[in-house]
This record gives sequence, C-alpha cells and structure tokens, in this order.
Amino acid sequence: MAKEKSEAKLLQEKLMTKKKNAGLLLEEKEIKKCDKFCEAYKKFLDCAKTEREAVAESIKLAEERGFVEYRADMPLKTGDKIYYNNRCKSVIFAIIGSEPIENGVHVAAAHIDSPRLDLKQCPLYEDNELALFKTHYYGGIKKYHWVAIPLALHGVIIKEDGSSVTVNIGEDENDPVFFISDLLPHLAQEQMKRNLSDAIKGEELNVIIGSRPFKDDDISEKVKLNIMSLLNEKYGIIEDDFISAELELVPAYKAKDIGFDRSMIGAYGHDDRVCAYTAFKALLDCEKVNKTALVVLADKEETGSDGNTGLRSAYLKYFISDIAKSLGAKGRLVISNSQCLSADVNAAFDPTFPDVLEKRNAAFFNYGVVVTKFTGSRGKSGTSDASAEFVGRIRNMLDKNNVIWQTGELGKVDMGGGGTVAAYLANLNFDVIDVGVPVLSMHAPFEVVSKIDVFMTYRAFNVFFSE
Ligand code: MN
Ligand code: MN
Repeated sequence: MAKEKSEAKLLQEKLMTKKKNAGLLLEEKEIKKCDKFCEAYKKFLDCAKTEREAVAESIKLAEERGFVEYRADMPLKTGDKIYYNNRCKSVIFAIIGSEPIENGVHVAAAHIDSPRLDLKQCPLYEDNELALFKTHYYGGIKKYHWVAIPLALHGVIIKEDGSSVTVNIGEDENDPVFFISDLLPHLAQEQMKRNLSDAIKGEELNVIIGSRPFKDDDISEKVKLNIMSLLNEKYGIIEDDFISAELELVPAYKAKDIGFDRSMIGAYGHDDRVCAYTAFKALLDCEKVNKTALVVLADKEETGSDGNTGLRSAYLKYFISDIAKSLGAKGRLVISNSQCLSADVNAAFDPTFPDVLEKRNAAFFNYGVVVTKFTGSRGKSGTSDASAEFVGRIRNMLDKNNVIWQTGELGKVDMGGGGTVAAYLANLNFDVIDVGVPVLSMHAPFEVVSKIDVFMTYRAFNVFFSE
C-alpha cells in the first residue's frame, strides 16, 4: 500500500510554486522537438547577422508562405498575409484576423539589430604599411571582446551614381576575414593597468584589412592604394563611396551547439534574433487567426530605438492606422484595444557571476520563456511595468496551453538594468509585457541560449497569435 502523503506534503503541493527544470517536465520526444526547431533557428542566425539581412531573409521566408508586400489603401480581408518593408532595415508582418479589427490586434515586437562595429564614414587609412579601417562601435559592447577574433564585413554601399552594392565578406569558408589586434602580454604591462572598461579604447578598435603594397615607387600609401584597387575591381567603388555606406563588422563564425549534451546554442546576435525568429516563425505557422496578428522586427533598439527604423518612430502606428482604415476602423481605437508582447531577451543566471542577480527573481536556463513584468534600472527608471491584470492574463494563457515559463528581472535592484522597446509601445497605449529567452553573456560576440527555452518562446508567441 502506498504511503499516505502527510498534511504538510499535500499543503505544499497545493500552495507552493511548482516551477521546475523543463528537462524534468518534458518527455524525451518533446525535447527532441525543441532541438529540431533550433536547427532552423541556427540557419537563420547564420544568414541574418545584420538588420538588413534579417529583413531580407524573413521577407524571403514569408513570401514562400504567401505573404505579399502591403501598399497603402490596398483592400484587405480576413486571412490576408501582408508585410511592410521599412527601408530594408525593419519590417512588419501581419495576418488579417476574422474578428473585427477594432477589437484590437496582437503584436509581437522584437529587434533585429545587435551590438557590432560600424565603419566610420572615412574608414580607410594606411599606417606603417598596413591598411586599416576606423570603426565606431554600435550598442553596448565590452570593447575588449572584439579584439583578436575573426570578423566579417556586411553591409551596403551607395555609389555616386545612386546604385547600390551589397557586401558580405567573411562568411564563406573560402572568404578572408578581418581582425583587430591586441597587445602581446609580454609588452602589455601598461595596458594591464587600465580599467577593464578602457582596456581597449574606442579609437583602438582599428581593423587590419591588408598589408601588401601596390607595385609602384612613385606614390605614397601604396598598401591603401592596393586595397582601394582591389575594392574597385570587385565592387566598382571609389574611396568617397564609403561616405554613403553602412558597413558593419560582425563575428565571422557560425552558430554552434554548446555542451556535450548539445542542449544550448552559442552564436552572435541571439539578442534579439532569438525573439525575432521565434515570433516571426510563430506567425508563419498560423494558418488563420481570430485577432489580426502582427510581428514587428525593429532596428536601432541597441542604440535607444531612435531613428525612422527604430520603434520610437511612427511607422508601426501608421501601419496599424492604414490597415484599420482599409478595414473600416479607426487606428487609434485599434491600438488602444491591442496587446503586445515586447519580445526581447533577459539575463540568464550565471553560476560564475552569481552576485549580480537576485536568485529568487532571476531567469534560469531550461526554465522556459521568461516573462518580465518590468525592466528599467534603479527604481524602475524607464520602465513600462505591465499591469497585474495583463500579467495575469498572459500567465493564464501560458499555463492553459502548457507553455513552460518563468519570471525574470534584469539584475539586482542597485546593480544596473536596462530597457526594451516595451516602454515605446506602451506610450502608444498598447498593453505590453516583456517576453523572451534567457541569455548568457548577453552582448558578447558569442552569446548562449538553451534550446528548450527557445522553443518555449516560440510556443508562447504561437499561443498568443492562436487565441
Ligand atoms: Mn535586446
Ligand atoms: Mn541588447
């Protein structure tokens, strides 16, 4: 006869939290499903290392599923699948729902820019017979991470005649890569006395791009000329064309499984392509929706969401207003009745650096998608802070659909913090909450996520759109 449970045990089961490692909750075949989902995600990461590439790749995948480019005043009906390409750097995908649009839309908003090094507008120079590029870092990086690693160059150059050239060097096995030098330890006595924050300074992030001179005795800067001559041959550009270019240096390596158990993925740019991909894929996998469903993949989050491709811009509001008008509703009313998942990553608990997080409220690997009620720093400064009602609604939605989830916060109260696009969406009068994947080494050139958490985040978006 089975031993009867004590009163305390029964009460514990009834009253105390049941959160557990998803590795214990899921059956083997469900874990395999998570792993399989992540194979396609890794492919997406490898071909979408910049915001422009993420836009191009997601539009390609969406068109394969029947999405068409939206034009203003286009007639719309239930089931239509449309996208709006904002300057090739941000994009909105939508499926028109069967419910009247004035009941509100369901939005997932993620960002597709990641910290990196941008080339300055006059980048090319020669110094002591080496050719180099000057850079200006983009987003919050630890500068010392970016030296002595292989870098690839991605972007676009607009030539004098207005034509454009797409650049992608360093991703193919046979491509060359680029590199920023660091001092050898033997001669780094002085450098080692610097603070970690300026161990490498912004103006020391100079990329080595060539070393052979152009064969000619007459001119100076022969190495620079040789590089310019190669670039002119390959892309038809002249030095001044860099002025109208957006060229970005990103790590040259591909996404890889991490660990003997292959339970994690290491890659550049999980923040925030992991939420961009999961939200976008969740929308693609919806055949029909009741509430009109939108996925916004935004640019410029890492620099504060300013600019016309960032989420402080009016493009999302305009898009919703335009489709509302086509469907005979007022955009303002649609937005006020709408709900939004601000899809962004959160910090995962790191046993090597436990002191920055408060364990009871931190997110852990394999505990599922993180729901973050508020972001901000020191006294919730800059937060949008989802209402208890909205948290309750999302919690109920996830539980009802067996999505494994956890709560999280961005560090101990006085430790620092950070924000997401949630606040800008809340300013438009959406109900918003942050939902995403916990990440280790966030903003490093190689970040790590758990495959189970990635899949649970996909499921969270999927149930949200399927409601
Ligand atoms: Mn982010
Ligand atoms: Mn970030």
